[in-house]
Amino acid sequence: MPIENDHVFVLAPSIAILFLAALLGTCWLVQRQQRFLLWQCSAYSLTAVPLGFQSFASADVLQRYAVLVGALYLLGSWCLTRSWAERWNVSIHPRVALMVSIATLSALFYFSRVEQNMWARVNSFSIGTGLVLLLPIWEALQKQRSKERLDQAFFWLCVIFTAYTFTRPLLISLLGFSDPKGFVHSTYWLITLMSILLFALLFTVLMCAITLRETINQLRRERDHDALTKILNRRAFHEAAQQRMADKRLYPMVVLAGDIDHFKRINDAWGHHRGDQVLQLVSSTLQRCLRTHDLVARFGGEEFVLLLTRIDLQNAESVAQRIRSELSADRTVLPQGPDLSMSFGIAPITDSDQLEKVLKEADELLYGAKNAGRDRVHVAGTHYPDISFESTAPMGLHMAPLNE
Ligand code: GH3
Ligand code: MG
Ligand code: MG
Repeated sequence: MPIENDHVFVLAPSIAILFLAALLGTCWLVQRQQRFLLWQCSAYSLTAVPLGFQSFASADVLQRYAVLVGALYLLGSWCLTRSWAERWNVSIHPRVALMVSIATLSALFYFSRVEQNMWARVNSFSIGTGLVLLLPIWEALQKQRSKERLDQAFFWLCVIFTAYTFTRPLLISLLGFSDPKGFVHSTYWLITLMSILLFALLFTVLMCAITLRETINQLRRERDHDALTKILNRRAFHEAAQQRMADKRLYPMVVLAGDIDHFKRINDAWGHHRGDQVLQLVSSTLQRCLRTHDLVARFGGEEFVLLLTRIDLQNAESVAQRIRSELSADRTVLPQGPDLSMSFGIAPITDSDQLEKVLKEADELLYGAKNAGRDRVHVAGTHYPDISFESTAPMGLHMAPLNE
């Protein structure tokens, strides 16, 4: 078939869509957990091929390959729904989608081979693809969706695209397109090409923006959280604690500094891996006692800091005692080992205090609790006898590894 100038122009949107597919594919290679990028990339590739073919082929050829072209478009639509479903965490109803696709392809076969009717072909194709696209949207409508602006924009773009897919035959009647031979040159086809390219561009921009936002959020999470225990790290604790301290409604507040007793012995006796599991157990125990606005962080090694809001020293001490007893009773990590124990120092925060000063006070109280024999809670303002048990083993740790 000789290539005309017009062909080159109508091919441009398909080539542009292939470029967008390559862009999304590259984004997916960088952020592999964002699988919707890969599905969108596949949808674009599967759409660009029949779109280019339709722009090129004569009316007779189009009629002959109507079922194949329709199948490629439907496959593209299916990939598109997979991409949407990934984002909204919903089902695409594959069985219903398959039945709709088979019915659509049968109609395309009938109206191209048995009774040649282009209008009926376009109608059945639009209804078929529209229905496939509607399946995840219908599911998402029943679900609580993200309120983020980008996610909202993405959802409504999907709805508009689906509505457009359903109403495309209307475009044909409005534009009075009737001559299948002049298909490539028709206003209908040019508008179709441009609108699909526009949708592809909008989807790509939104998806890149969503991916960028989620990558930044992920980096922030990694920056603020301890990799092993998933609780806040020292840096993030300081930032969040300053915010809490600025809020007068959250007083009275206290800081608890806690440290696992003889942790080094646990490592030495049962290995580093078991030590890590103890750290995770302590973090989850500490997290269980948090209420809204409270904070817990790992400050390093086996040292943890909690900021409890709307609580006095007496109740904070009860919280610390409860943590101690929960840990000593827990047999999940060291089933036959010694009781786990922790020491705490508790200091109050007043609205004129500096965080650093309170942390230092809680740390000194913790140090006092360690020197007094460990496995205890020292509270600011209470007098404790000045005794020092240097590195004795009050928990009765037997350090020989167990044959578990
Ligand atoms: P004390 O009762 O006085 O607090 O004694 P301790 O043994 O708990 O304290 P020490 O500071 O002597 O030892 C802390 C140990 O914690 C030493 C270090 O190897 C271990 N540690 C620090 N970070 C980690 C970690 O991420 N995983 C494991 N398994 N061990 C860690
Ligand atoms: Mg320790
Ligand atoms: Mg320590």
